[in-house]
Amino acid sequence: MMPKKRSPVWHPFSQHALQDEITRVIRGDGAYLHTVDGRRIIDAISSWWVVTHGHCHPHIVSAIQKQAEKLNQIIFAGHTHEPAEEVAAQLLKLAPRGLDYVFFSDSGSTSVEVALKMALGYWHNIGKQRIRIVVMQHSYHGDTVGAMSVGARSVFNAAYGPLLFDVTSIPFPARGHEQATLDALESACRNEMPAAFIVEPLILGAGGMLMYPAWVLREMKRICEASDVLFIADEIMTGWGRTGTLFACEQANVTPDIACYSKGLTGGALPLAVTLCRADIFDAHYAKDRTRTFFHSSSYTANPVACAAAKANLDLWQDQECRQHVASVATMQEQAIESFRADPRFENVRRTGTITALDLKAKEAGYFASNGPKLQAFFKGRGLLLRPLGNTIYVMPPYCVTAADLDEIYGGITDAADALTGRRASVA
Ligand SMILES: *Cc1c(COP(=O)(O)O)cnc(C)c1O
Repeated sequence: MMPKKRSPVWHPFSQHALQDEITRVIRGDGAYLHTVDGRRIIDAISSWWVVTHGHCHPHIVSAIQKQAEKLNQIIFAGHTHEPAEEVAAQLLKLAPRGLDYVFFSDSGSTSVEVALKMALGYWHNIGKQRIRIVVMQHSYHGDTVGAMSVGARSVFNAAYGPLLFDVTSIPFPARGHEQATLDALESACRNEMPAAFIVEPLILGAGGMLMYPAWVLREMKRICEASDVLFIADEIMTGWGRTGTLFACEQANVTPDIACYSKGLTGGALPLAVTLCRADIFDAHYAKDRTRTFFHSSSYTANPVACAAAKANLDLWQDQECRQHVASVATMQEQAIESFRADPRFENVRRTGTITALDLKAKEAGYFASNGPKLQAFFKGRGLLLRPLGNTIYVMPPYCVTAADLDEIYGGITDAADALTGRRASVA
């Protein structure tokens, strides 16, 4: 098949043979995107989970402008700058108590690679042979090779399988089966002496917006602690208010040994990531012996402009108003999904914090269920940016979303179900 003449740009997670038309966006403002042909789109998934306060938030934009004129890039080995220092200091105040050091990088996947290297480096430097990583079924931690290795094995990484390292996987704590998860973790921790356990707290995002309760997170931390297994919290998606609290771990009163934050770290304005760790992990790398250095860097580590955006984001979180927005989005989201609980065409209608998800009942399951692209196309026609994961439709809006926007979004979901099932819902 000969492709038509088209843009040379190769898009992520896009099958160009099936999706020829790529939406050209010229402006973002709040919860809206504006296309080159004058259409307005409601960004119901925060542009892949990154935009928290809305597109082009004036406080963040202004911080970026100011910093860009002063210092826009600097080697971060042997050098530092005010935005990075301030972000690190403020992060440690906001993050769960007990995290002491901040390592900067530039994407979520990289922050996961850094976390894994910190964990392995820790055990190596204190002279213990602990190298195995324990993971949770259906998890997603990014698309680089190490991050794929600790994520679910699926068609997304089948071609690269031979490159991925072996891990121990414990089952997802589905409702009523939580104990099986805890038992599997306990047995892995006891018998395999793993280096670390990595997990997405409260919600597995790309795995299908699978939600589990805080007490399970709490128990998993306790089990790891009992066997000295480092607990890595991947809060790349769950951080920055998504689950109702600033970080999901707060709800379980858990301090991870290592935590990864990215996505909303800059409010979604620029790429930046951090990996936080406890002092003993830093200390294991602290020595007059240069072979014990933490050997990791990206060219743009702690880019000053990205750090200025992060600093502006942290300013916004100091403000009560920001937390009120999160609380009100959570309330509006609960009201919005209420009627779907009685709609027989959907199942597993669920919410954690500001995120809702519901599964369209269908014969075909999985990410490649044919409903996925059909739904996406339907939503696109309605001016809604929604990207179902197979039959799972989820709504993860920026916190400036209004009740009227949510009406449009859920109206679109209802109409999509009507269109696909060819009938109106018989709502009880
Ligand atoms: C998005 C995501 C990542 C990867 O982040 P990138 O910035 O896309 O590399 C890792 N873990 C989780 C839980 C994510 O949602």
